[in-house]
Order: sequence, then structure tokens, then C-alpha cells
Amino acid sequence: DHTIHIVGAGLAGSEAAWQIAEAGLSVVLHEMRPSRSTDAHKTDGLAELVCSNSFRSDDATANAVGVLHAEMRLAGSLIMASADANQVPAGGALAVDREGFSRAVTEAIARHSRIELRREVVSTVPPEEWGSTIVATGPLTAPELAESIRLATGADSLAFFDAIAPIVHFDSIDMNKAWFQSRYDKVGPGGTGKDYINCPMNREEYEAFVNALISGEKTAFHEWEGTPYFDGCLPIEVMADRGIETLRHGPMKPMGLTNAHKPDEKPYAVVQLRQDNALGTLYNMVGFQTKLKYGEQTRIFRTIPALENAEFARLGGLHRNTYLDSPRLLDQSLRLKALPRLRFAGQITGCEGYVESAAVGLMAGRFAVAEANGLSVTPPPVTTATGALLAHITGGHLSAEEEGGKRSFQPMNVNFGLFPPVQIPRPEGRRFRGKEKTTAKKRALAERALDDFASWLAGGQP
Ligand code: FAD
Repeated sequence: DHTIHIVGAGLAGSEAAWQIAEAGLSVVLHEMRPSRSTDAHKTDGLAELVCSNSFRSDDATANAVGVLHAEMRLAGSLIMASADANQVPAGGALAVDREGFSRAVTEAIARHSRIELRREVVSTVPPEEWGSTIVATGPLTAPELAESIRLATGADSLAFFDAIAPIVHFDSIDMNKAWFQSRYDKVGPGGTGKDYINCPMNREEYEAFVNALISGEKTAFHEWEGTPYFDGCLPIEVMADRGIETLRHGPMKPMGLTNAHKPDEKPYAVVQLRQDNALGTLYNMVGFQTKLKYGEQTRIFRTIPALENAEFARLGGLHRNTYLDSPRLLDQSLRLKALPRLRFAGQITGCEGYVESAAVGLMAGRFAVAEANGLSVTPPPVTTATGALLAHITGGHLSAEEEGGKRSFQPMNVNFGLFPPVQIPRPEGRRFRGKEKTTAKKRALAERALDDFASWLAGGQP
């Protein structure tokens, strides 16, 4: 019997189901929503985006996540096809209408004759009679399942902290103070160079704001105290606390932006908002994930020029991030070493991000198909974005044991730092100028990745 079970119909589980069904095998996809939800999900749709609506850079010549997009498209990704069909303007980024995107995925899965969707919670490690099973239950895995997995793996803990950013109603933003502009007027796919809303601050306003963030009242989560943060998703008040200049060099940097209302006045800091739905009625505050109390968020964020009367469609908050110590626990094809009928996919494997989660789902699906067909399972080479990401997860990095029991494996977005380096020939008769070398290196890494991924797909592919 070649039916493969998948637990969790999020970004990873939906992609895995699609890949398996398209390869000709049957899938039973178990999803607990709507009978049970999580702290972040709001709908019963598959592949719901719980925070930002961005799939990040779509540049497949200069950005590792753009390369990952391109590789996934080559592999017939359902997540990428649904994202491409539901784009909203976002400069060089690929951002989507979150409802349209989730609907596209849900309908494609529902229509597929080889996929059966069962709406139910799976509360323990899946039973043996299910055979080959993919667990893709995400960062907010139902606690009883997380506990059951923890026992099966013998890990101390699977859960860590992350935070999300607020969303504002467009018509409550004062456009007499704010203006539309993409940083450096960058025009991306479907973009206009005016995709972000910018709120300017002078020095006084900025310093008062940073101090308000530091002294603002935070939500207390005593049971979580001492739990580490993922560094790419630091709460804004934690960044503020690291120094008065930190935010001005991070999410509030003023570079590449000119105040349309006062072109002669250089803003000292800028808060950016990005379109969140196709209608353009909602905007999210870029990089403003926070664990401030709701009342404090409203009070402090309304001191931002142009947001004095802001109405919030959603406030920021804290969430769990459940993930395995994968380098120690999983083999190269994402199987649990201690129980190889179980494969893991998505954020629970310790990747970070929508795109990365879907990419790992894509691979888990293909690995499961290869195994069911009695073929050898070969991951894509580490020179590809997918291969580099998998190598990060399954072993290229120190496991808990190697670090003397200290957990060192951290969730990670895909980035060129995970790729083996390339050599770039020096320009004839002169040195590299400015950013020339970095740009050339990225381009070479990207080209090599896409060539190698295409060869891998053409070779021993199930
Ligand atoms: P999910 O998409 O969460 O899918 C898991 C699915 O499994 C869910 O549908 C869930 O209902 C289901 N499930 C869970 N337990 C069970 C069970 N026991 N039985 C049956 N079904 C179950 N990434 C970004 O790129 N950008 C962001 O802005 C961003 N913000 C985030 C904000 C929050 C609050 C969180 C939690 C994560 C965020 N992430 C973000 C990280 C990550 O990319 C997403 O969480 C992504 O959805 C992970 O994909 P996944 O498929 O692994 O999990």
C-alpha cells in the first residue's frame, strides 16, 4: 500500500501532499483546524500565512531566497504557483494576498483525486499502521503531539520563542505626513517603486519612541523565562534595549527614502508599512514584531507620526516555536533516526520562514515518493538553495551533543552563507571596485545553484 500520511496542512504539509499526489501516490492529509486552532492561525484555510504576507526577495540572481523560489518553481511547487497567482506589489519582494493565496492552495488540494483531507487532531506519534508518514505540524504543533514527539526523541525541550508584528487599517494612516515610496525607489515584479508607506521621525521623536519601547509594559510568560529568541525575529523592544541606535540601523533605517511632503528635511528614522492584502486596505508594520502588552502597543505606536489615529487590525504578539534538534535526530532524507517511518518537514525541522518550510515540505514529499518506489534517496547538492538548507537542517552544523549538551542548532532562513563558496576571476588588469565582487559572487552562486538543481531534477528524480 503506497498511501502516505501527512500530519499538518500548512506550508510544508500542503506542498508535500501536492508533490506526492502529482507523482502518482495517494495521500491522507490530517489537519486539526478548524476543530482546534493555534494562537496564530485565524482561518480553516490550508497554508495560512500567520504573520507577514511576504515571501521575501524574488531576485534569483542576487538573493538566496529568490534562488529558492526559482528552484521550487522548477520542481512544480504548489505553494509557489499559488503565490505567483496572488501577488500584491512589494518592491523586489514577492508578497501575496493572504486569503487568495490560502484559497488557491486549499482548492488545489481539495480538487486532487489522490488526496484525502481529514480534519482531525493527531495527538500522539502516528500509529505504525499508517506506515510512511510526514509530520509537518509547524512551530505551533499541538502541545500533546509535541510532548509525544519529545518523548519519542528523548529531547529536553522542543519549544522556543518568536514574535509577530501589528497590522494597521490603511484609512487610519495620515497620508499628509506619510508617503508612498520603496527604498531607493526599487521597482520589483508588479511593483511601482512606491510600494511602502513611510512614517518619518526626527531625532527627538525617535529617541522618545525608543525610550517608550524600553519602558513599555511587556507581557509576562513566566513559564517561558530564559527561553532563547530566534535572532532574525527579535521583538522591537528587545532591539531597542540593545542601544539607542539599534533600530535606526535596523527596521527603522532612513536610507533611500525622501519625505515627499518635506523633501529638504532628511528623516532621522522611518517606520515602514507594507501592503498586507490585495485590496490595499491593510498594512503591516515592517519589523515591528513585539511582546508589548496590547494597550501599550496602541499607546506607543500611536506616537509615530502619521499613526496618531491608527486603527489596528491585529496587534503583535508572542508565539511558541517548536522544533527538533534535527542535526542529531534526523537522517539525510529527513527521517527520524529512532523511528524511520516518520519523516519531518517544515519549520519543526528547524528551518525558518514560509518559503523554507514549503521547500522542506517539497523535499520530504519527494523523498517519501522515492522511498515508496524503492529508489535511493539523494538530496539535491549543497550548491543548490534547497540542498544548502537541507544540509543546515540535517547535519552540516553542530548538534546539541557536540556542543557539550548546549543546544546550538538554531532555526535559519536560507542564505548564501550556507552555500559552498565560488571563486570569481578578477577583472582584467584592475582590482574589484565597490560592491562589484559581492554582486558577482552572488550571481555566480545563484547561477551554479539553478544549473545544479536542474541537473538534479533531470537525474535520479522519482
Ligand atoms: P504551519 O504553516 O504552521 O502548518 C502546520 C499545520 O499543522 C497547521 O495548519 C496546524 O493547524 C496543523 N497542526 C498542528 N498540530 C497538529 C496536530 N497535532 N494534528 C493535526 N494538525 C496539526 N515566516 C515567515 O516567512 N514570515 C513571517 O512573517 C512569519 N511569521 C510568523 C509568525 C508566527 C506567529 C509564527 C508561529 C511563525 C511565523 N513564521 C513566519 C514562521 C514560519 O514560516 C511559519 O510558521 C510557517 O507557516 C511554517 O510552515 P509549516 O508548514 O512548518 O507550519
